[in-house]
Amino acid sequence: MTDQYDIVIIGCGVIGSSIAYHLSEYKQKRILVIDKGFPLSGTSGSTQAWVWVHNKVPSWYGELSMYSAELYPFLERKIGDVEYKRTGGIAPFFAQTDWDKALRLAEEQAEVGIKVEVLTRDQVLEKEPALSPKIAGATYSDMDGNVNPFRLVELYIKAAKRNEVEFSFYNPVTEMVMEKDHYKIYTKNKKDAITTERVILAGGPWSKEIGELLGLDIPVKQVRGQVIITEPLAPFLKHTIGGMRQAENGEVLIGFSKEEVGYDRRTTMDVIQETAQMAINYIPSLAKANIVRSFSGVRVIPEDGFPILGKIPDKKNAYIAAMHSGVTLSPLVGTLMAELVMVGETSICLKRYSLKRFMNYA
Ligand SMILES: Cc1cc2nc3c(=O)[nH]c(=O)nc-3n(C[C@H](O)[C@H](O)[C@H](O)COP(=O)(O)OP(=O)(O)OC[C@H]3O[C@@H](n4cnc5c(N)ncnc54)[C@H](O)[C@@H]3O)c2cc1C
Repeated sequence: MTDQYDIVIIGCGVIGSSIAYHLSEYKQKRILVIDKGFPLSGTSGSTQAWVWVHNKVPSWYGELSMYSAELYPFLERKIGDVEYKRTGGIAPFFAQTDWDKALRLAEEQAEVGIKVEVLTRDQVLEKEPALSPKIAGATYSDMDGNVNPFRLVELYIKAAKRNEVEFSFYNPVTEMVMEKDHYKIYTKNKKDAITTERVILAGGPWSKEIGELLGLDIPVKQVRGQVIITEPLAPFLKHTIGGMRQAENGEVLIGFSKEEVGYDRRTTMDVIQETAQMAINYIPSLAKANIVRSFSGVRVIPEDGFPILGKIPDKKNAYIAAMHSGVTLSPLVGTLMAELVMVGETSICLKRYSLKRFMNYA
């Protein structure tokens, strides 16, 4: 590790590692990625990892998810098998009154090319017989699926290393100083500053604290999600279903919860019970399954729910990428951020995702 880089990325989750890899494809810059822990110690190591497109609204946001999902097979050609599976996704609803909402969703998503079908109860049960006969219908898209987040981050890092990106783990960034044409970055393990022309903040739920080092107020909330996992069951679920899917080894992963409790990553009996009950409402046969594990993770949710992406206003050569659904979005976000840094413009306009929308400009 030297002291001088062209680009320093802070945070090595699915977003930071994707940006590092996509930047490294240009093979032009000295790049360093710094993480206070290990690459999956943040949210990316405690996620459900659906690559979920179909009910991301408004459609301009759905479009980002669609393009990102489309990139996954090509990404696998480049970095290796990240176990991306396009299972198709079902979002069931129970009330007849939800029909109109479902039809409006299908219409809206069609505007950007996301094909959403609205299925009757019989059609849903034909696709996925284990679902409850009490459901009224469902929306469905063949674009939804899932990925292995552990393989994804590991292979982003391996591919970036082949392109000479450097990594520094267990090394929290503690101070950043903006000078005329570069940044000085201080970390816990290094007495001298690391100097870089450009800095990219990819700190996930810690974006607020990292932003403060540059005098910024990054409006993200930390929202705990608890996930329960059943014992391995004989294969019976083909699709990714809202908050549930069956893994290759037969376990069913289930998670719906959202709690604003900061960085507290405990799992709690009340939420585990609620989650299990919701799962049984969707799939009655799960009542007989044993829950064998649970975990929780901290979602990073920008104040208005949409990604914060792009250049940081008023800070020369500083960038940010903070969002929920980062697993879904990582191939596209890496691609777009690399375009922004290397070329200065992006193939999808990022203006509406700018941090500027939260700032009070006259
Ligand atoms: C329960 C749950 C379910 C989810 N399900 C899905 C899903 O199905 N599909 C989907 O697309 N998304 C899902 N998400 C969201 C998704 O996991 C996140 O959007 C994504 O992991 C965020 O990645 P990240 O790289 O931005 O953040 P992180 O993975 O948290 O990475 C940030 C990194 O920054 C590092 N860092 C922090 N502070 C410092 C510092 N001072 N110095 C150096 N390094 C620092 C951290 O150590 C961390 O490694 C889910 C999240 C949760 C919690």
